[in-house]
Amino acid sequence: MSGTLAELEAQVRRELELTAHPTLDWMPNTSGPSGAHVYDVVIAGAGQGGLILAHHLMRDRVRNILLFDKAKFGQEGVWTTYARMPTLRSPKDYTGPDLGLASLTYQAWHEAKYGIADWDALEFIPAGDWADYLLWIRAVAEVPVRNEVELTGIAAAPDDLLKVTLKTTTGEEQVYARKLVLATGQDGAGKWLAPPCIEHLRRQYWATTADPIDFAALKGKDVAVLGAGASAADNAATALDAGARTVRMFVRRERLQRVQPYRWLTFAGFLRHYCDLDDAWRWRFMSYVLGLRESIPQHTYDRVRAFPNFEIIKGGGWNAAEERDGRVGLETDAGAFDADYLISCIGMDVDFAARPELKPFAPHIKTWRDAYTPPANEQNERLGRYPYLDGNGAYQETNPGAAPYLRHIYDYTFAATMSFGASGCSINAMKIATPRLAGGITRALFQEDASRHWETLKAFDQTVFEPSELDADD
Ligand SMILES: Cc1cc2nc3c(=O)[nH]c(=O)nc-3n(C[C@H](O)[C@H](O)[C@H](O)COP(=O)(O)OP(=O)(O)OC[C@H]3O[C@@H](n4cnc5c(N)ncnc54)[C@H](O)[C@@H]3O)c2cc1C
Repeated sequence: MSGTLAELEAQVRRELELTAHPTLDWMPNTSGPSGAHVYDVVIAGAGQGGLILAHHLMRDRVRNILLFDKAKFGQEGVWTTYARMPTLRSPKDYTGPDLGLASLTYQAWHEAKYGIADWDALEFIPAGDWADYLLWIRAVAEVPVRNEVELTGIAAAPDDLLKVTLKTTTGEEQVYARKLVLATGQDGAGKWLAPPCIEHLRRQYWATTADPIDFAALKGKDVAVLGAGASAADNAATALDAGARTVRMFVRRERLQRVQPYRWLTFAGFLRHYCDLDDAWRWRFMSYVLGLRESIPQHTYDRVRAFPNFEIIKGGGWNAAEERDGRVGLETDAGAFDADYLISCIGMDVDFAARPELKPFAPHIKTWRDAYTPPANEQNERLGRYPYLDGNGAYQETNPGAAPYLRHIYDYTFAATMSFGASGCSINAMKIATPRLAGGITRALFQEDASRHWETLKAFDQTVFEPSELDADD
């Protein structure tokens, strides 16, 4: 497939038309208190997860939706912000955002933009191109997004609705929704982690991986990065590129993780049916995968190793830190070190109370700890905090009856991982996870509307033939 982008866009429109069946609108009108408008689905977060879910729902003729993002246009997601890597880590042939349409694949877009030879020569997809591709899908599939709108509150409303509070550039807004999807990113149900021993330091001395970091200011400085994964190496490389004097990457383990468990689990059986396993198997698989963490890809390893002023300190967990003459003195398992700036890249932790929109009802959200007790050799407190989602992808109550509105809130953040395996927000899983979540939402909407659909069936009077006089009604 090759040609210009304009030709490709025409092809996308044609394929969308050819595959549009069933095209009947089926969502009944719902009105809120005092006749207020009610969205069938509100999606918070227009990164790749929220964007492609919205597209799927629109193709299922669920079009009364609101999709918004707190970021400015073009800055949604991680790709142009804190994914500090020139290229994606995943293989270039993973599909997902296309929802099965060949003309919407990254490859089709890349070939139309840069030519087939360029695609053939490409090893990994440039992160900026991936961001541009997502914006292109948004435009060509006509998915409406409101930018600079932030989800700040969720509450139960009359008639089994949700009242969603939004912060916008012109003030606060409240909208009603039947369903709300949290597509708010890796930390959407929690926070990025830092070791407790550095949290008392003034913020001029440290950051987590997702914070904005002024790398130019690290020129000539000594930088200490904590973490063994790809993000740790990306932050180290960015500091080295910016001219840091030294960069030390502290790895808590004695050995660098070298396998990538997400490569193992990227097969249809696991991606589609992990959620059908019983709790014991789900816990065993994901606690192993998440315990391994993500290894550094070869090209990222080569990127940092190219610098002679880069060092990996194995068995170097951080135990204590203090400000000393404008620098930080670090006590680690591998000895004492000084640094000018610390970057924590040790992943995220599920902590509903850390998100203002979830905090008011955090204790009501059922977690894995509430649902399942693993055997002694598989205990893991951190994983016990993950939400124990229902089969549709929504929250459940810790105590039935205490917060029934939770079943209208769908978690499409990384926290869905324990319940569904790889979540749809990562590229490898999107092909299977997005239709599943869209199906979970339409299933609930259809079931809740069964009596309304029954009434429209009984009132259905669209005749398809005219009888002759012989069969005329009396
Ligand atoms: C550094 C990094 C590199 C990664 N690299 C890869 C890779 O190479 N390959 C791969 O398959 N996966 C990768 N992943 C995993 C995954 O693909 C990405 O995290 C991806 O961005 C997930 O998409 P998402 O839509 O779920 O979340 P995001 O892309 O993070 O989008 C979430 C959106 O929600 C918005 N938001 C958050 N809170 C609110 C709020 N309260 N109100 C309104 N909007 C809000 C944010 O502004 C953001 O735009 C990477 C992840 C990270 C963190």
